[in-house]
Amino acid sequence: MKTIRFPDGTAVPALGQGTWMMAENPARRGDEIAALREGVQLGMPLIDTAEMYGEGEAEILVGEAIAGLRDKVFLVSKAYPHHASARLLRQSCEASLKRLGTDHLDLYLLHWRGAVPLGETVEAMERLVDAGLIARWGVSNLDMDDMAELIDAGGHACATDQILYNLTRRAPELDLLPWLADRSMPVMAYSPVEQGRLLSHKALAEVARRHEATPARIALAWLLSRPGILPIPKAGSVRHVQDNRAAADLTLSDEDIAQLERSFARPTARRGLEML
Ligand code: NDP
Repeated sequence: MKTIRFPDGTAVPALGQGTWMMAENPARRGDEIAALREGVQLGMPLIDTAEMYGEGEAEILVGEAIAGLRDKVFLVSKAYPHHASARLLRQSCEASLKRLGTDHLDLYLLHWRGAVPLGETVEAMERLVDAGLIARWGVSNLDMDDMAELIDAGGHACATDQILYNLTRRAPELDLLPWLADRSMPVMAYSPVEQGRLLSHKALAEVARRHEATPARIALAWLLSRPGILPIPKAGSVRHVQDNRAAADLTLSDEDIAQLERSFARPTARRGLEML
């Protein structure tokens, strides 16, 4: 599978797995755990979670899913903005580690910008790196101005910006994506199938028919065809995770890409970064 390289040189397979809204329905728990484990076995080691998801319940589920697999997993979690301070970040990180049943995260993100000054978060993140609790850190939902401020505040080691990016959310192509690419910073694309809403679109269905594939596969293959993009679809079943994994083996033709990009046109004017 194609890999994505973080600025420190670490490479990870370009297709990851999300976990938002997992652990919310006890009847689906077994399927969700099986899906995450299948994803790791299929070569999608990056698992994205957050202390916010189910107020810790998603992290507990991930901990259960990766038991015995920790060394195969690239584990990502996120801190609430109001926990991203000198006083509270370590506490939050340690609580996440405990729920996940591990002693370190591969990547720890600020979930979105809040009231804590970015420079204070950078220092708190660096202290977690020094303490060996996290291997690297990054941010999420930060637009270009915030990113520039982060770098000015000493955040040169920022590994990634995790943002809303899919065929229906192409505005970041106008400004934020080139800005990040200039700094060799990969992008984690969240809600890559727009939480399922994208999948009934006619153009996706047409391209999918040509490849005897599903619309989800096509939407993910489009993201994977772009440099520096790491989509993190959430799949709650083995069937969906296998379908998503197949996207990494699908090559879209120039004609497919042109059709998709015509149907999901890039906005012409800049607009602020959207978030879900
Ligand atoms: P996604 O775009 O990943 O969509 C998830 C939905 O799509 C689920 O309903 C899932 O159903 C369905 N689905 C997945 N694969 C398939 C498939 N092959 N065929 C048909 N349906 C499919 O939305 P998310 O919002 O979950 O985004 C992905 C991840 O990104 C999150 O889980 C989270 O980790 C992260 N995220 C980060 C945010 C941030 O602020 N940093 C905000 C939002 C998300 P089913 O469950 O039945 O498989």
